[in-house]
Amino acid sequence: MNRVAENLLHTKLDHAAIRSDFPILARQARHGKNLIYLDNAATTLKPRQVLDAVYDHYAYGASNIHRGVHYLSEEATRLYEGARETVRDFINARETKEIIFTSGTTFAINLVAKSWGRKNISAGDEIVITHMEHHANIVPWQMLREETGCILNIAPINDRGELDMAALESLITPRTKLVSVVYTSNSLGTINPVRDIIRLAKKHGSAVLLDAAQTVAHTKVDVQNLDCDFLVFSGHKLFATSGVGVLYGKRAILEGMPPFMGGGDMIKSVTFEKTTYADLPARLEAGTPAIGGAIGLAAAIGYVRNIGFDSIAAQEKDLLTYATGLVSDIPGLRIIGTAAEKAAILSFIVDGVHPHDMGSLLDAEGVAVRAGHHCTQPLMTRFKIPATTRASFSFYNTRADVDALVAAIKKAIEVFA
Ligand code: PMP
Repeated sequence: MNRVAENLLHTKLDHAAIRSDFPILARQARHGKNLIYLDNAATTLKPRQVLDAVYDHYAYGASNIHRGVHYLSEEATRLYEGARETVRDFINARETKEIIFTSGTTFAINLVAKSWGRKNISAGDEIVITHMEHHANIVPWQMLREETGCILNIAPINDRGELDMAALESLITPRTKLVSVVYTSNSLGTINPVRDIIRLAKKHGSAVLLDAAQTVAHTKVDVQNLDCDFLVFSGHKLFATSGVGVLYGKRAILEGMPPFMGGGDMIKSVTFEKTTYADLPARLEAGTPAIGGAIGLAAAIGYVRNIGFDSIAAQEKDLLTYATGLVSDIPGLRIIGTAAEKAAILSFIVDGVHPHDMGSLLDAEGVAVRAGHHCTQPLMTRFKIPATTRASFSFYNTRADVDALVAAIKKAIEVFA
């Protein structure tokens, strides 16, 4: 057997076994059609292993963490802090103090803006984002601009949906305090050259935040190797439940960040005159966190690692190539986002069919996609379109799912012909 064949064998997934891990894939969608789930960029499905971990916590181990002295509380604390270690290892952070559990990507970026931003950014300082950011990486910086008078610079993109790196480079100057960019675009699928971006930012002493919401379920992320200052993601896009997410930050930076929320669990001592704060990571995690969510996230990470990113990437690449080839033959269909480096996200528009109508007609065939601006309105404006229909793939999708998508698109076009 030659090397290529060996590799294929190695990365080939056992689809039947994998799909049976996801109970939802056995259910039917509208009109009793089989569910074809192609909305993974919005949220991923949850395997039984994650559901069991969450269920077991609430069924047999429900308890609050840290403050309890009883058996169940100690057990829940162990599992919650164990999940922090699992996340640390997953993204190769140096230490668990660098992992802050949040409710998701949005909360994590807001935490950085409202804590680090308020302390480190003042009038005239500059923040660089890109034209392809999710609203979660736009609005918090606009709010900071309102508060501080800082300047928000937008790096442009080309018609394929790739960052204009020369323009980005010219925007990063000694006045730049933060470069905050999406690693993988949720609307276009573009995978940004984050290493080059980090290098440019570091040249001028700027901090870098990577929005990895669409990245961590698809490729290995190593924060030490990347040398980013912050990295954020959501559990629900990584096969875990909603309500849990992660802010990674370099320890020295997190240590300089004032608490953003005050309350239980984040203090050392409280009197009416003065409160002293706990050390990291508790200092930035006020209140009872998503305990079951964190436990589920650890299970999800275990699940993904078991499958392996080589196999995941191979499967998703095959699906993207196959789908791109098939839809490219459909007259009147235009793919939005054709970057050379692209994740398995297929956004498209079709002449004469509104993306929302397309979404509804696909739904009638059991094909779940997203239609809209995908929380990237400035990006839609850049492409002079109101919305796209977006199919986004995960490793449990198959070529048969793509065939169903393509057949449903063709049927929808006939309705409008
Ligand atoms: N950034 C990107 C790139 C996203 O895709 C999303 C979710 N669509 C977010 C941020 C926000 O994530 P959440 O809603 O889980 O906070």
